[in-house]
Amino acid sequence: MTTNKSKELFERAQRSIPGGVNSPVRAFKSVGGTPLFMERGKGAYMYDADGNQYIDYINSWGPMILGHAYEPVIKAIQEKAMLSTSFGAPTELEIEMAELIKSMAPNVDMVRMVSSGTEACMSALRLARGYTGRNKFIKFEGCYHGHADAFLVKAGSGVATFNIQTIPGVTAGVSMDTLTAPYNDLPSVEKLVAENKGEIAAIIIEPVAGNMGCIIPLSGYMEGLRAICDREGIVFIFDEVMTGFRLAAGGAQERLGINADLVTYGKVIGGGMPVGAFGGKKEIMQHISPLGNVYQAGTLSGNPIAMIAGYTMLKTLKDNPGIYKELDDKTATLHKGLDEILGKGDVPYVINRMGSMISVHFSDKPVNDFAAAASADNARFNLFFHAMLDQGIYLPPSAFETWFISKALSAADIEQTIEAARKALQA
Ligand SMILES: *Cc1c(COP(=O)(O)O)cnc(C)c1O
Repeated sequence: MTTNKSKELFERAQRSIPGGVNSPVRAFKSVGGTPLFMERGKGAYMYDADGNQYIDYINSWGPMILGHAYEPVIKAIQEKAMLSTSFGAPTELEIEMAELIKSMAPNVDMVRMVSSGTEACMSALRLARGYTGRNKFIKFEGCYHGHADAFLVKAGSGVATFNIQTIPGVTAGVSMDTLTAPYNDLPSVEKLVAENKGEIAAIIIEPVAGNMGCIIPLSGYMEGLRAICDREGIVFIFDEVMTGFRLAAGGAQERLGINADLVTYGKVIGGGMPVGAFGGKKEIMQHISPLGNVYQAGTLSGNPIAMIAGYTMLKTLKDNPGIYKELDDKTATLHKGLDEILGKGDVPYVINRMGSMISVHFSDKPVNDFAAAASADNARFNLFFHAMLDQGIYLPPSAFETWFISKALSAADIEQTIEAARKALQA
């Protein structure tokens, strides 16, 4: 497999784009080597500039849940584009999108569309603050909620991948109101709440974490957080940018059976176009402008091309609930296969999985929080990543990311992946 064209493109990109990429994790910096430049994708596969084929386990970090170039979405975009790509005035499609989201997501009476997961989380936090009249909020170590200033404290994903401790450009004043606790540790949240009585606007969490590898909430943890929020008048925000419309039609709320006060969406909701959303109970959402005084806006929010892509994606998922079982089964097959291969070796490992999110940590103890994920043998992960890539298996280029399974992945693809893992571990 040659990747000369990608190498040339990376050289060229670095002269005009910082680090050669428009989002840090794409740069392969932590795993080493040259990032591959992609040209096209179809179903479970993508093809780089040199024409190499890869089985894709990133799927655009989630949106390609039905595989690349899913025809109904592509067709809908083409048809809509002929009618103009933007108006800056409301359209009926935005109502249909909102109604569709409400019909799938629990506890969403009203929803506001934005253009990214970052925007969704940033706006939900502002709303929670405006609604409660409080400033502080709690997030969890290793959880990523986009790159808005307030969230860049112990954020996972790229921030963890590059081991950035404090972020230049984020003022101490902003970070001061961000309180952090380890994931899956209820007593530490109780302690923060007691120390900041009546001052906490929100608790925001990835209900199944995907930005430190995949990490599952332990039994009783979410229930405990819910109870604290109820007791203290704290807005409970589920960041479902990754889990929304992926773990179930109703996301993690449905899958875990926990009610959130506000929910944020991104990734799958846009069907591959730049879309985010936040929604929740009317009592809270009515504080958003122009209905209320908490300001939030966007020139391209509810953009017709983005909306038709997202609408078509969500409608497909809603009308075919069997997709979720299929995704679960495929991921379980991969899990079982990897277990058999890894179990034969002498390298300690942990596989975490829920629905179509799965990841491997090379660790000799359970990985239930960021500290455990960070203390795993991530140098070994990087070797594993490259050994897989050389065999045409495209995993996320960091141990601090979950893998995303798509419906397009076939039994043969999974078999090929498991065989590649066997060879990768012998290397
Ligand atoms: C990806 C992600 C975000 C940020 O979304 P963008 O669209 O990249 O701005 C926020 N929260 C979670 C949980 C994510 O995985």
